[in-house]
Amino acid sequence: MTYFLNPAVKLHKRSVHGYGTINFITRDGVGDQPLVIDDRALPIIEKLILGKPYFPSDSDREILSRLEEDGVVSKGDAKENWHQPSAESLQFWIQTSDRCNLACTYCYIPSLNSKRTRRHDLFSLFSKKLLAVRGLKTISIKLAGGEPLLSFRDWSGDVIKLKLTLADAGITLNVRIITNLTFLNKEIVEYIKENNFGISVSIDGLATYNDKSRIFPTSNRGSFQVVMRNLEILRANGIKPAVMVTATSENADGMAELVEWLVNNDLVFRISDAKGGYIRPDEFENSFVEVDKILSAPSRVGYPVSDRMVVSDLRTLSPQATPCSMGVSGGALYLDGSIYFCHTEFNDGTPLGTIDEDENLVTIIRRGHSRHLGLSSECKACEYRFICAGGCPLYRVNGKSPMCSAYKRIIPKIFDLYGKEGQNV
Ligand code: SF4
Ligand code: SF4
Repeated sequence: MTYFLNPAVKLHKRSVHGYGTINFITRDGVGDQPLVIDDRALPIIEKLILGKPYFPSDSDREILSRLEEDGVVSKGDAKENWHQPSAESLQFWIQTSDRCNLACTYCYIPSLNSKRTRRHDLFSLFSKKLLAVRGLKTISIKLAGGEPLLSFRDWSGDVIKLKLTLADAGITLNVRIITNLTFLNKEIVEYIKENNFGISVSIDGLATYNDKSRIFPTSNRGSFQVVMRNLEILRANGIKPAVMVTATSENADGMAELVEWLVNNDLVFRISDAKGGYIRPDEFENSFVEVDKILSAPSRVGYPVSDRMVVSDLRTLSPQATPCSMGVSGGALYLDGSIYFCHTEFNDGTPLGTIDEDENLVTIIRRGHSRHLGLSSECKACEYRFICAGGCPLYRVNGKSPMCSAYKRIIPKIFDLYGKEGQNV
């Protein structure tokens, strides 16, 4: 079988100080959306650019199938299969329940505390949809809400069934629970341990910094103490959670001491600016300057920043044309079976489709791809086009991230930190 480069595909290069060269292509028919080309695909495209038919080796086939799906190459034969979309890996946010026992000031789940319940066949229908995706090898799900652990018994069995069904078809299911960690019991701990599921816990600061925003609405008290107690239980059971930190104006000053604690406890963490105007760019930048001091201290030389820290939606490890996988290989599944572009649209936005329709899951997801378009000309020309990608498409202002000025100063600092990783103490 031979492959050809599609007409109007052009290869470009962009240099990013501290990172190196990013290769990307532009295509006709997909608006202004480029596609970042990784090191495995680059030599193949370079050969195809020479204009000759290409006879791939076995190891190239997987890459070519991905490029074909992205409209970069076409097969010389077997065109009858083109209409069936394929994907090697997919990512889904799954809303387990809208119920939550905290009332965080910046919460961006619009369906929070609705009275809706999850339909009983959600996981079995989802499983059928996944099995119909051509070439699927891995599916990563985030079990979220609301607070998923409050309804643990409602979904825990379904998730195991999903895992087994997919395993029979040779598909790996990766599971991560997104929790506020205010509710935990032995049964949950055993379940996470036995199944080797990931868990991500929100902590916004040490003590009072956390408790400014993460509060129990019934008592108005902060959640810090109970979260730390449960974190210790997890760690005593050999479960190492990742920590999600949301930066707002209220906790920005406490970010550095939290990061110091996270580093000392060797925890993986992600610092995100709260979306929706809860923090100004200068506040986020200043808090990162302090974080940078902690991570750059002589005692930290050699600390593996790239393994431990993620900042917002920045693609500092793997440059991409979009800041997240939504509309590309990811989506969000709501309680009633609706499939949304992103979980921040549950209830408020228009779903891309539903799990009941006959259409392939990949086609439904890609209905949302146009949400990524419309970048400002400043973003298109920006050195960090494939690191920041214009920020979250749902919160851009005039085609660019409201955090632009902060990102432009933070990104080089992150690359500097990466550069110091290999140094000896
Ligand atoms: S938002 Fe700013 S930093 Fe991000 S790509 Fe656009 S111009 Fe560059
Ligand atoms: S659309 Fe925005 S909020 Fe949703 S996953 Fe992507 S970056 Fe995050």
